[in-house]
Amino acid sequence: MPNATLPPLNAVPSPPPASSFAPDLPALSPRDRLDRPLRDLRLSVIDACNFRCPYCMPADRVPDDHGLDSASRLSFDQIERVVRGFARVGVRKLRLTGGEPLLRKRLPELIARLAAIDGIEDLALTTNGSLLAAQARALREAGLHRLTVSVDALTPSVFSALSGGRGRIEDVLRGLDAATEAGFAGIKLNCVIQRGVNEDECLPLAEFARAGGHTLRFIEYMDVGTCNGWRAERVVPSAELRDRIHARWPLQPLDPNYRGEVARRYRFEDGGGEIGFVGSISTPFCGDCHRARVSADGRLYTCLFAAEGADLRPWLAQGDEAFAQSLAEAWGARADRYSELRAAAREPSPGARKRVEMFLVGG
Ligand code: SF4
Repeated sequence: MPNATLPPLNAVPSPPPASSFAPDLPALSPRDRLDRPLRDLRLSVIDACNFRCPYCMPADRVPDDHGLDSASRLSFDQIERVVRGFARVGVRKLRLTGGEPLLRKRLPELIARLAAIDGIEDLALTTNGSLLAAQARALREAGLHRLTVSVDALTPSVFSALSGGRGRIEDVLRGLDAATEAGFAGIKLNCVIQRGVNEDECLPLAEFARAGGHTLRFIEYMDVGTCNGWRAERVVPSAELRDRIHARWPLQPLDPNYRGEVARRYRFEDGGGEIGFVGSISTPFCGDCHRARVSADGRLYTCLFAAEGADLRPWLAQGDEAFAQSLAEAWGARADRYSELRAAAREPSPGARKRVEMFLVGG
């Protein structure tokens, strides 16, 4: 039993110096109305998915053939121009998402083009891992820097249920092995724990991540979109999960890598690596949120819980300089802080508000 109790999860870690908000921002470096710069872009390359995870894309609400036709999706040329525009206004970190991004054809070709864009220092991708075994090497050779794989359970029956009966944990584990062989290090594993659903997976997942040299992140179950039937009582607060892990493997708090990092990081005292907790419900982090999201059909969302997104295509049609200007203006007008308002119960009950579906913007 560890003798040290950990500081409360919402104890504000010592922030890195202000300059670490990407000091070399180019001239167009907008700040939003809460003085937050634009540093991260999450870009969805496809809204289709081969899974039907109940907290994102429940099978009873999203038909099997769901998905934009290719004409409605941004083309590779448009995606490249969009990312150049965001790099122009301060984006340094680009994360490719979906739906399931590995369903997008010729993805390595797109990754090679995005990896070559000036200003993009960090190119990452989030996947459900089921198609990774066949694609890991090509993604790596194309220039992808980092991988995050969603793994909500190791028990095959629980994993299957949490993928809407479409996924097999064996495929994901083979994918992780292939990614490690292809040279991806420090692969992150994202896990959403729901009370009464997969709580018992918490310690086995931590053991698996420690053994594999992966960095596990527990993400609180969120009221994203409008179709996951979210209920507050199904949320397992990060502090509870952290204390459960700490009781088994003593933890030490770590400082954030950069200002605005969403996970609260800890290292295992015994050298077993790192683990993180993303507490959007219990410890919201809107104050440092410098993240924009673009859906596969080219809409800009300035918050994961935004109701509407701005169509980027008309801005793109004005040319690259005008496009960057429009992005700067859109960001300058941003004042989102949904999770903080939810926590302060100043947001209407989750059901009452339209929100973009997570599978359109990739969480
Ligand atoms: S709720 Fe919106 S503003 Fe707050 S951290 Fe999430 S995406 Fe950012």
